[in-house]
Amino acid sequence: MPLRFFNTLTQELELFQPLKDNTVRMYTCGPTVYNFVHIGNFRTFTFQDILRRWLRYRGYALDHVMNVTDVEDKIIVNAAKEQKSIEDYTRGYTKAFFEDAAALRLEQPEHVTPATKHIPEMIEAIQTLTAKGYTYTNEGSTYYRISNFPDYGKLSHNDFTGLRSAARVDQDEYDKADARDFVLWKGRKGDEPYWPAPFGDGRPGWHIECSAMAMSFLGETLDIHAGGIDLVFPHHENEIAQSEAITGKPFSRFWLHSEHLLIESQKMSKSLGNFYTLRDLLEMGNEPEVIRYLLASVPHRKKLNFTFEGLKAAAKSIERLRDFEARVTSAKLPAGKNQIISDRSTAAVRQFEESLDDDLNTAEALAAIFEYVRAMNTALDENQFQEDNRWEAAKVLEVFDTIFDVLKPSAPRAVKIEGPSDGEIEALIAERNQAKKSRDFRRSDEIRNLLLEKGILLEDTKDGVRWKRK
Ligand code: AMP
Ligand code: ZN
Repeated sequence: MPLRFFNTLTQELELFQPLKDNTVRMYTCGPTVYNFVHIGNFRTFTFQDILRRWLRYRGYALDHVMNVTDVEDKIIVNAAKEQKSIEDYTRGYTKAFFEDAAALRLEQPEHVTPATKHIPEMIEAIQTLTAKGYTYTNEGSTYYRISNFPDYGKLSHNDFTGLRSAARVDQDEYDKADARDFVLWKGRKGDEPYWPAPFGDGRPGWHIECSAMAMSFLGETLDIHAGGIDLVFPHHENEIAQSEAITGKPFSRFWLHSEHLLIESQKMSKSLGNFYTLRDLLEMGNEPEVIRYLLASVPHRKKLNFTFEGLKAAAKSIERLRDFEARVTSAKLPAGKNQIISDRSTAAVRQFEESLDDDLNTAEALAAIFEYVRAMNTALDENQFQEDNRWEAAKVLEVFDTIFDVLKPSAPRAVKIEGPSDGEIEALIAERNQAKKSRDFRRSDEIRNLLLEKGILLEDTKDGVRWKRK
């Protein structure tokens, strides 16, 4: 069976092929850089990495765009508290995100770009929506009028008929004519950052950011749009409403969503405060590839319950594979080839491929590999392995590792040897400033000491905090 994905839009498993040539045009919603990204977010980004790698394994080229949301309510509030520009505030967290993504071996999308570099495209998109009669303004802000877009709800399969209550569906705190309406452009308020636009000074809403960036890089119709399940509504529904109103064409053919990572059966989220960052887990001594394995091991449409036992099990699994790799590489084997083993190796690759073709069923793909390794260890015990079987087994592991990428141990963390990176230091200082502002002196001292242990000296000056390496 060829490659197929479950499409949120149609609620069906559908055969996948790109629309044009051999290139998959894909857009994924990137992080909002107001804090360290937690491992729940990284579950979604790891799923997208597996998706990328599998598409390439299947012979497709990728044109993948990911935005970095660097203007947003929480960013503005936090930056103002620290008396920083949003650029200065988001710089450290953006850098930290890329460092963490690299530690998890996530491939960089072909285009990664901050929202604030694409304001003109967003302004233009809003102007087109206005020209087509999809907007209205209220107190300097511009809104999307949902009642003009009859398809609204087709992605989330929500029935909105009759919903005109005062209850807000969108979190943006602005006045709207209809509860479903959402803000495209927020009018300038007080000292908040703003950009000039023909329809008034202000800043873009989150939804228009993705529509404008996706279409300016990838054209009117994408092959795949992906994100975490919480983005289906309202974010992706709103992206469809904007983009399809502008072009009159389908915005994305496939919509792929990953389920949440839970902790103690609750969604891991920054707002609930129940989160671990990658850095927390690395500080506890976990290897990045173990975390990657755990995040990738549960198929993306199933919830993943994060536990420390789960991490231990992931470490054991990797160890088993590495042990087998070492054993196969170094075993003294008689010349020749055992056909039964050759067939078993071919079957393992086939099962692995079939599982990933089936909506990226990583759990089954792993099961195929572990069954194979068990059988091959027995074959080695029973001296059935021959010299020509060696490279066949190596090939199975190579195929596995092209996707899962966990066999090679990570170099000991640069952080441990050379101290933290600038991005990490700046982000910790930002957290310390925050702690001091909220009079959490225990936390602010803790951060100072943590940095001191790593050889970073902090100096509080009247212009803010300066730091240097010892
Ligand atoms: P954010 O930085 O909040 O915009 O989120 C970045 C990505 O992480 C989005 O695709 C979210 O849907 C996703 N996400 C947020 N929380 C979780 C979670 N607990 N598990 C999996 N994905 C998540
Ligand atoms: Zn988005």
